[in-house]
Amino acid sequence: MSTVFTNPLSIPVLGFCAYSGTGKTTLLKQLIPELNRRGLRLAVIKHAHHNFDIDEPGKDSYEMRKAGARQMLVASHVRWALMTEDPLDRDPDLLHLLGQLEQDKADLVLVEGFKKLALPKIELHRAAHGKPFIHTEDPNILAIACCDETKLPGEIRRLDLNNVAQIADFVQQYVRDYRPESKPSAARALPLSACELGSEQNLSVRQGIDHILEQVKPVTETELLTLDETDNRILAQDAISPVNVPQQTNSAMDGYAFAFQDNMSQSFELKGEVLAGHQYSGQLQPGEAVRIMTGAPVPLGADTIQPRELATETDGKVSFSGKIYRGQHVRLAGEDIAQGAVALGSGTRLGAAEQGLLASLGLFEMPLKRRPRIAVFSTGDEVSQPGTELKANCIYDSNRYTIKAMAKRLGCEVLDLGIIEDSEAVLSQTLSQAATQADVIISSGGVSVGNADYIKTVLAKLGEINFWRINMRPGRPLAFGKIDQTLFFGLPGNPVAVMVSFLMFVQPALRKLAGEPSWQPRLLPAIADEAMRSRSGRTEFSRGIMTLGDDGQLHVRTTGAQGSGMLSSMVKANCLVIIGEADERIEAGETVYVHPFADLL
Ligand code: AMP
Ligand code: MG
Repeated sequence: MSTVFTNPLSIPVLGFCAYSGTGKTTLLKQLIPELNRRGLRLAVIKHAHHNFDIDEPGKDSYEMRKAGARQMLVASHVRWALMTEDPLDRDPDLLHLLGQLEQDKADLVLVEGFKKLALPKIELHRAAHGKPFIHTEDPNILAIACCDETKLPGEIRRLDLNNVAQIADFVQQYVRDYRPESKPSAARALPLSACELGSEQNLSVRQGIDHILEQVKPVTETELLTLDETDNRILAQDAISPVNVPQQTNSAMDGYAFAFQDNMSQSFELKGEVLAGHQYSGQLQPGEAVRIMTGAPVPLGADTIQPRELATETDGKVSFSGKIYRGQHVRLAGEDIAQGAVALGSGTRLGAAEQGLLASLGLFEMPLKRRPRIAVFSTGDEVSQPGTELKANCIYDSNRYTIKAMAKRLGCEVLDLGIIEDSEAVLSQTLSQAATQADVIISSGGVSVGNADYIKTVLAKLGEINFWRINMRPGRPLAFGKIDQTLFFGLPGNPVAVMVSFLMFVQPALRKLAGEPSWQPRLLPAIADEAMRSRSGRTEFSRGIMTLGDDGQLHVRTTGAQGSGMLSSMVKANCLVIIGEADERIEAGETVYVHPFADLL
């Protein structure tokens, strides 16, 4: 066995080892979606045969490699790949390869192959193959996934090779129990205090989000609440199913239940009927059938259902037509959710389906994260309160209302601080008070160049503040800082810029704060129905209207005039069209990414 494996990453690494042909890839192809479903983001490293290639002759990247490029990095706005030639033809070095991963993009690294390495592994074993166990030679095997009849050597955790949910449970527990062996390098973290106070930095949208998220600590307080109080709240603990769903094996059809037999053309003796909520008291013998309704428990002795439409009853007998497979139309006990399985993971936001699921398990009370508290105010002498008369040269305050509505939809408690006059003393007093009451303070206006510097001066005195120029439109100026543990967002003044900045920067922060781990906006590819422009080096967020085209594809056009003060463009839109920094012009017919407003606006 090789040297001790010290995981260089802060996320766990787990290997899957087996003799070839045991079905590692088959298992991983089922396990990956199951783990994804449970909220784990995965990276995979696979040991391949020596002359594998992912590129093809004729592709530019292939030709440039063949021309002598030792490293080839191909990138588009959705994916990039790095290919490195190692002409020495030695065994790949897993530690080196792990170092190539972007560990902030994954929660777990699965490693396929590298059988001989001393890293924590699950062994896959098929007795039918007659191969020896790896476990007896390798102390790093945590569990063996095998079939029922296999006898295991010694004391080792047994997993069922055909039970993906059980293996996923094991992996999930492994991730939960994992403690990093070495401190992760802090090189990429840029602490707020390391940015010069009052500095004006140019940042990309991604950099802005990353700097912000580094400062957000999820709330830790929890409260025990009942089902009716869970809407849009975040689960503070895994919800473990106390029951099997369904509770019993039952019929998925109105029809007949019987024991499958090789000759299905003979008729069956009809023994009775079983309705949902009842059960058939006896045990069916071969050649016997009962009438059964959807949801009714399948009687002992029966294993197969034929729908009513494919059956004929005559004189106490029933015969069947059509194809019949053993086990068809039977819902197995626990097939949806097994007793003891994680029904919803900690950090899940509870919508209608999630609340229904918890109810279906009989769960009534659960620990939820405390709701984040957000304080909101507006600045600017021209900004007036709606409901009062509009004075000359003034505008009504709309930003406070868009911000409050978006924060509420994210499940936050909102404290409205009103419009704050442009006075250092008032601002200072309001902010220090708000910092004791709220997790986040959000203001709008007064952060662009040429503004009175109240926000800058006051925040620099009370805490720390950065003024960023984000390479985006709308929403270029953004202030972000801290007063004690309270985060401060100074959004721009223009109403559309406020909403876009909230969606892109405040939303991920509030979700992380609320306890939703690693939330990402759902971006969808859509076909641009018109040419769209974006200055290079700047991310453009146009207001878009997406529709399903006659071709079955998602199409998008803009709402027309895109002034950053025009809220009507947000009202008409149902998505933002995102044109990244690298693109200058998208032609009609090309694909762009859209960020649907979905339920947030
Ligand atoms: P500022 O960055 O403060 O110069 O504001 C930019 C633009 O946004 C100006 O036209 C302001 O009048 C407008 N604005 C600032 N605050 C608000 C607000 N709360 N509601 C609506 N518009 C605002
Ligand atoms: Mg202003």
